[in-house]
Order: sequence, then C-alpha cells, then structure tokens
Amino acid sequence: MLGTSHRIMGFASGAGLASFFGADVVGILTCSFVGSLGALAPDIDHRGSKVGRMFGPLSWLVSSLFKHRGFTHSLLMLLILAWTVDRYLSPHEMLGYAFIAGVASHILGDMLTKKKVMFLWPVPIYIGFPIMRTGSKMEMPIAVILSLLMVMAPYHEDVLSFYYHYAAPMWS
Ligand SMILES: [Zn+2]
Repeated sequence: MLGTSHRIMGFASGAGLASFFGADVVGILTCSFVGSLGALAPDIDHRGSKVGRMFGPLSWLVSSLFKHRGFTHSLLMLLILAWTVDRYLSPHEMLGYAFIAGVASHILGDMLTKKKVMFLWPVPIYIGFPIMRTGSKMEMPIAVILSLLMVMAPYHEDVLSFYYHYAAPMWS
C-alpha cells in the first residue's frame, strides 16, 4: 500500500480505538494522529519509504537485519509493542494502543496487496488476502471502506459488549 492509504487507515484506526476508550474529541484527534504515525512505522524496514528516509541510520540498520515486510510487519511485532505499552506506558496506554492500532492497520493493508507480508515472522511465509496491487486504482476505495469500518466498529453493539466484557478488564 502507498503512504497515503496507510495514513488514512492509521488515522481511522486511531479514532476507532479512542472511541473504545471513551475518549473525548481531543483524545480522538490525538489518537488519530498517533495512529497515522503507527501506520507509517512498519516501513522503517524499507530505506526508500518516507519513514525510512526520515530515520536514515535506523532504517539502514533495520533493513539490513530484516527483509522488507518481515519482522516489522509481523504478529510478533504487535505483541512486543503491546507488551511494551502494558509495561511502560500506563497510565497513558491509550496513545500506545493507538500507535499499535496504526501498525496493525498497516499490516492489514499490506496483507491485501499482491506481495503480502511475513505475518508469522520468523516463519518465512508470506501471508495475506491479495485483492489488489500496491498503487492500483482499487487501493484508495479499499482503504476508505476499511477506514470507515474501523471508525464505525466501536459503535457496533457486539463490538462494544466484547470490549466491556473481555478487553476492558485487562487494563482497568
Ligand atoms: Zn509495509
């Protein structure tokens, strides 16, 4: 996926997550911004990407250690981030989770492209549901539809009740 599509989806995932936490407007906007940053972060493993160019030496290090769409696009990465947020970011975990939501939205977006991602890294298998090519005409409509779903999901009754019964007790 291209940077713009990732940013839109990251923005939406941050907003959706903030609604889960019952955040006010400022909280929702902040989480959206943080989510959009998270949505760019996984491509640190690609030196030509926007974030890769911004963090040159770090990107050089990560891209020489890991293949593109490998470790930084994996379930393991999400778990490490969640562990870090739980351990070090409380009581500001909402922003940390917004970042993770952005990262997750990036991984999902890349999974939908032909190249897929090594979601189960270090298992060297590319996993995904390829329905488009990066930069194709389909990309933006798909990104917008997914973004709308991510913003609306927290308002769905089943999602909310799942959150209050299972997820919320973990951090309250
Ligand atoms: Zn990527």
